[in-house]
Amino acid sequence: MRKPFIIANWKMNKNVHESVAFVKAIKEKLPANKEIGIAAQAVSLYNMKKVAGSSNLQIIAQNASAELEGPYTGEISMRSLADAGVTYVMLGHLERRRLFNENNDSINQKVLAALNAGIIPIICTDEEMVQTEVNGQIHYVFRQLKSVLKGVPANKLSQIVISYEPSWAVGSTHQANPDIAEEGCLAIRQSLVEMYGNEIGEQVRILYGGSVNPENIGQIMSKPNVDGALIGRASLEIESFLQMINYIE
Ligand code: PEP
Repeated sequence: MRKPFIIANWKMNKNVHESVAFVKAIKEKLPANKEIGIAAQAVSLYNMKKVAGSSNLQIIAQNASAELEGPYTGEISMRSLADAGVTYVMLGHLERRRLFNENNDSINQKVLAALNAGIIPIICTDEEMVQTEVNGQIHYVFRQLKSVLKGVPANKLSQIVISYEPSWAVGSTHQANPDIAEEGCLAIRQSLVEMYGNEIGEQVRILYGGSVNPENIGQIMSKPNVDGALIGRASLEIESFLQMINYIE
Protein backbone atom coordinates (compact mmCIF):
# COMPACT_ATOMS: atom_id res chain seq x y z
CA MET A 1 0.00 0.00 0.00
CA ARG A 2 1.40 3.40 -0.98
CA LYS A 3 0.60 6.03 1.64
CA PRO A 4 -0.82 9.23 0.08
CA PHE A 5 1.61 12.14 0.28
CA ILE A 6 0.35 15.73 0.10
CA ILE A 7 3.03 18.41 -0.20
CA ALA A 8 2.83 22.19 -0.04
CA ASN A 9 5.43 23.90 -2.20
CA TRP A 10 5.60 27.42 -0.84
CA LYS A 11 8.36 28.49 -3.22
CA MET A 12 9.79 31.89 -2.20
CA ASN A 13 6.75 32.82 -0.08
CA LYS A 14 6.36 33.17 3.71
CA ASN A 15 9.08 34.39 6.03
CA VAL A 16 10.26 32.49 9.11
CA HIS A 17 7.52 33.82 11.40
CA GLU A 18 4.77 33.14 8.90
CA SER A 19 6.07 29.64 8.25
CA VAL A 20 6.27 28.79 11.95
CA ALA A 21 2.78 30.22 12.60
CA PHE A 22 1.37 28.05 9.81
CA VAL A 23 2.97 24.89 11.26
CA LYS A 24 1.60 25.76 14.73
CA ALA A 25 -1.88 26.16 13.29
CA ILE A 26 -1.98 22.84 11.44
CA LYS A 27 0.23 20.43 13.36
CA GLU A 28 -2.57 19.06 15.57
CA LYS A 29 -4.89 18.72 12.59
CA LEU A 30 -2.94 16.36 10.37
CA PRO A 31 -4.69 13.19 9.18
CA ALA A 32 -2.94 10.03 10.39
CA ASN A 33 -3.57 8.02 7.22
CA LYS A 34 -1.56 10.35 4.97
CA GLU A 35 1.92 11.82 4.90
CA ILE A 36 1.89 15.62 4.86
CA GLY A 37 4.86 17.83 4.04
CA ILE A 38 5.79 21.46 3.52
CA ALA A 39 8.60 22.61 1.24
CA ALA A 40 9.64 26.02 2.54
CA GLN A 41 12.52 28.45 2.16
CA ALA A 42 15.71 27.02 3.67
CA VAL A 43 15.96 29.71 6.34
CA SER A 44 12.66 28.55 7.89
CA LEU A 45 13.21 24.81 7.97
CA TYR A 46 14.98 24.43 11.32
CA ASN A 47 12.39 26.44 13.22
CA MET A 48 9.53 24.71 11.44
CA LYS A 49 10.93 21.34 12.49
CA LYS A 50 11.26 22.49 16.10
CA VAL A 51 7.60 23.52 16.13
CA ALA A 52 6.42 20.42 14.24
CA GLY A 53 8.14 18.21 16.83
CA SER A 54 7.07 14.60 16.58
CA SER A 55 3.94 15.39 14.57
CA ASN A 56 3.30 13.73 11.25
CA LEU A 57 4.58 16.79 9.33
CA GLN A 58 7.56 16.36 7.00
CA ILE A 59 9.84 19.34 6.60
CA ILE A 60 11.05 19.58 3.03
CA ALA A 61 13.83 21.60 1.39
CA GLN A 62 13.22 23.05 -2.07
CA ASN A 63 16.80 22.53 -3.29
CA ALA A 64 20.34 21.84 -2.03
CA SER A 65 23.89 21.50 -3.28
CA ALA A 66 25.34 18.34 -4.79
CA GLU A 67 28.63 19.15 -3.03
CA LEU A 68 29.32 17.69 0.38
CA GLU A 69 30.89 20.85 1.88
CA GLY A 70 33.59 23.41 1.08
CA PRO A 71 34.11 26.64 -0.88
CA TYR A 72 30.63 27.02 -2.43
CA THR A 73 29.49 30.40 -1.20
CA GLY A 74 25.73 30.73 -0.98
CA GLU A 75 25.00 27.03 -1.28
CA ILE A 76 23.29 24.80 1.28
CA SER A 77 24.54 21.28 1.92
CA MET A 78 22.44 18.15 2.30
CA ARG A 79 24.34 17.48 5.52
CA SER A 80 23.19 20.79 7.02
CA LEU A 81 19.62 20.11 5.96
CA ALA A 82 19.68 16.68 7.60
CA ASP A 83 21.04 18.28 10.78
CA ALA A 84 18.18 20.80 10.70
CA GLY A 85 15.60 17.99 10.72
CA VAL A 86 14.82 17.95 7.03
CA THR A 87 13.66 14.56 5.79
CA TYR A 88 13.02 15.22 2.08
CA VAL A 89 14.47 17.49 -0.57
CA MET A 90 12.65 18.52 -3.74
CA LEU A 91 14.98 18.31 -6.73
CA GLY A 92 14.60 19.47 -10.31
CA HIS A 93 11.45 21.53 -9.95
CA LEU A 94 10.38 23.13 -13.22
CA GLU A 95 11.33 26.58 -11.90
CA ARG A 96 14.83 25.37 -10.97
CA ARG A 97 15.26 24.03 -14.49
CA ARG A 98 13.81 27.09 -16.19
CA LEU A 99 15.18 29.91 -14.07
CA PHE A 100 18.41 28.46 -12.69
CA ASN A 101 19.58 26.31 -15.58
CA GLU A 102 19.43 23.03 -13.72
CA ASN A 103 19.61 20.03 -15.98
CA ASN A 104 19.34 16.26 -15.76
CA ASP A 105 23.05 15.88 -14.93
CA SER A 106 23.12 18.40 -12.10
CA ILE A 107 19.84 17.04 -10.71
CA ASN A 108 21.25 13.50 -10.86
CA GLN A 109 24.29 14.64 -8.81
CA LYS A 110 21.93 16.16 -6.24
CA VAL A 111 19.84 12.99 -6.06
CA LEU A 112 22.97 10.96 -5.26
CA ALA A 113 24.15 13.55 -2.71
CA ALA A 114 20.76 13.51 -0.96
CA LEU A 115 20.77 9.73 -0.68
CA ASN A 116 24.32 9.83 0.74
CA ALA A 117 23.19 12.29 3.39
CA GLY A 118 20.12 10.23 4.31
CA ILE A 119 17.63 12.68 2.81
CA ILE A 120 14.91 11.36 0.52
CA PRO A 121 14.71 13.05 -2.88
CA ILE A 122 11.39 14.15 -4.31
CA ILE A 123 12.32 14.23 -7.97
CA CYS A 124 10.24 16.55 -10.12
CA THR A 125 9.71 15.65 -13.75
CA ASP A 126 7.95 17.93 -16.20
CA GLU A 127 6.90 18.46 -19.75
CA GLU A 128 9.99 16.95 -21.32
CA MET A 129 8.21 13.71 -20.71
CA VAL A 130 5.48 14.69 -23.10
CA GLN A 131 7.02 14.16 -26.47
CA THR A 132 4.12 14.72 -28.76
CA GLU A 133 0.38 14.56 -28.95
CA VAL A 134 -1.01 12.44 -31.75
CA ASN A 135 -4.69 11.67 -32.22
CA GLY A 136 -5.43 12.68 -28.67
CA GLN A 137 -2.95 10.12 -27.34
CA ILE A 138 -0.11 11.51 -25.31
CA HIS A 139 3.18 9.71 -25.75
CA TYR A 140 5.78 10.04 -23.08
CA VAL A 141 9.50 9.73 -23.21
CA PHE A 142 11.60 8.74 -20.29
CA ARG A 143 14.89 10.43 -21.01
CA GLN A 144 14.49 12.78 -18.08
CA LEU A 145 13.71 10.05 -15.56
CA LYS A 146 16.46 7.73 -16.75
CA SER A 147 19.07 10.50 -16.55
CA VAL A 148 18.15 11.80 -13.11
CA LEU A 149 18.09 8.26 -11.66
CA LYS A 150 21.50 7.27 -13.07
CA GLY A 151 23.50 5.39 -10.42
CA VAL A 152 20.59 5.11 -7.98
CA PRO A 153 20.67 1.55 -6.62
CA ALA A 154 17.48 -0.49 -6.65
CA ASN A 155 17.40 -0.73 -2.85
CA LYS A 156 17.16 3.08 -2.56
CA LEU A 157 14.55 3.59 -5.23
CA SER A 158 11.49 2.50 -3.31
CA GLN A 159 11.89 5.43 -0.86
CA ILE A 160 12.27 8.02 -3.60
CA VAL A 161 9.24 10.11 -4.52
CA ILE A 162 8.62 11.27 -8.09
CA SER A 163 6.34 14.09 -9.13
CA TYR A 164 4.77 14.58 -12.52
CA GLU A 165 4.13 18.25 -13.25
CA PRO A 166 3.13 19.13 -16.82
CA SER A 167 4.54 22.60 -17.46
CA TRP A 168 1.26 23.99 -18.79
CA ALA A 169 -0.51 23.20 -15.51
CA VAL A 170 2.06 24.58 -13.04
CA GLY A 171 1.26 28.09 -11.85
CA SER A 172 -1.25 28.47 -14.66
CA THR A 173 -5.00 28.87 -15.02
CA HIS A 174 -5.42 25.45 -16.64
CA GLN A 175 -7.41 23.14 -14.46
CA ALA A 176 -5.67 19.86 -13.87
CA ASN A 177 -7.51 17.09 -15.63
CA PRO A 178 -7.51 13.94 -13.45
CA ASP A 179 -7.20 11.68 -16.50
CA ILE A 180 -4.06 13.44 -17.66
CA ALA A 181 -2.65 13.27 -14.14
CA GLU A 182 -3.27 9.52 -14.13
CA GLU A 183 -1.83 9.07 -17.59
CA GLY A 184 1.39 10.86 -16.64
CA CYS A 185 1.80 9.04 -13.33
CA LEU A 186 1.08 5.67 -14.93
CA ALA A 187 3.64 6.36 -17.64
CA ILE A 188 6.23 7.12 -14.97
CA ARG A 189 5.36 3.92 -13.11
CA GLN A 190 5.66 1.85 -16.26
CA SER A 191 9.04 3.38 -16.88
CA LEU A 192 10.18 2.58 -13.33
CA VAL A 193 8.96 -1.00 -13.74
CA GLU A 194 10.96 -1.22 -16.95
CA MET A 195 14.08 0.09 -15.22
CA TYR A 196 13.82 -1.54 -11.78
CA GLY A 197 11.26 -4.34 -12.04
CA ASN A 198 7.66 -4.73 -11.00
CA GLU A 199 8.05 -4.95 -7.22
CA ILE A 200 10.04 -1.74 -6.86
CA GLY A 201 8.10 0.14 -9.53
CA GLU A 202 4.89 -0.57 -7.65
CA GLN A 203 6.32 0.75 -4.37
CA VAL A 204 7.42 4.20 -5.56
CA ARG A 205 5.03 7.04 -4.79
CA ILE A 206 4.24 9.24 -7.75
CA LEU A 207 2.64 12.63 -7.16
CA TYR A 208 0.81 14.95 -9.49
CA GLY A 209 1.44 18.70 -9.46
CA GLY A 210 -0.14 21.56 -11.40
CA SER A 211 -3.10 23.74 -10.37
CA VAL A 212 -4.30 21.36 -7.66
CA ASN A 213 -6.90 23.00 -5.39
CA PRO A 214 -9.59 22.04 -2.84
CA GLU A 215 -12.14 21.49 -5.62
CA ASN A 216 -10.14 19.12 -7.82
CA ILE A 217 -7.89 17.23 -5.37
CA GLY A 218 -10.45 14.52 -4.52
CA GLN A 219 -10.90 13.51 -8.14
CA ILE A 220 -7.17 13.60 -8.83
CA MET A 221 -6.39 11.49 -5.77
CA SER A 222 -9.02 8.93 -6.77
CA LYS A 223 -6.81 7.84 -9.68
CA PRO A 224 -4.98 4.57 -9.03
CA ASN A 225 -1.46 5.71 -9.97
CA VAL A 226 -1.63 9.16 -8.36
CA ASP A 227 -0.22 8.73 -4.86
CA GLY A 228 -0.17 12.35 -3.83
CA ALA A 229 -0.16 15.98 -4.84
CA LEU A 230 2.45 18.72 -5.01
CA ILE A 231 0.61 21.98 -4.48
CA GLY A 232 1.82 25.53 -5.02
CA ARG A 233 -0.61 28.45 -4.82
CA ALA A 234 -3.48 26.68 -3.10
CA SER A 235 -1.21 25.57 -0.23
CA LEU A 236 -0.47 29.08 1.01
CA GLU A 237 -3.70 29.57 2.96
CA ILE A 238 -4.26 27.47 6.09
CA GLU A 239 -7.95 26.78 5.40
CA SER A 240 -7.35 25.71 1.83
CA PHE A 241 -4.40 23.49 2.86
CA LEU A 242 -6.47 21.81 5.57
CA GLN A 243 -9.28 21.17 3.10
CA MET A 244 -6.84 19.56 0.67
CA ILE A 245 -5.13 17.30 3.20
CA ASN A 246 -8.59 16.09 4.22
CA TYR A 247 -9.80 15.58 0.67
CA ILE A 248 -12.59 13.14 -0.03
CA GLU A 249 -12.22 10.94 -3.11
C1 PEP B 1 4.31 23.83 -8.26
O1 PEP B 1 4.93 24.86 -8.39
O2 PEP B 1 4.92 22.78 -7.98
C2 PEP B 1 2.87 23.83 -8.45
C3 PEP B 1 2.28 22.68 -8.61
O3 PEP B 1 2.24 25.05 -8.47
P1 PEP B 1 0.65 25.32 -8.59
O4 PEP B 1 -0.05 24.35 -7.67
O5 PEP B 1 0.49 26.73 -8.15
O6 PEP B 1 0.28 25.09 -10.01
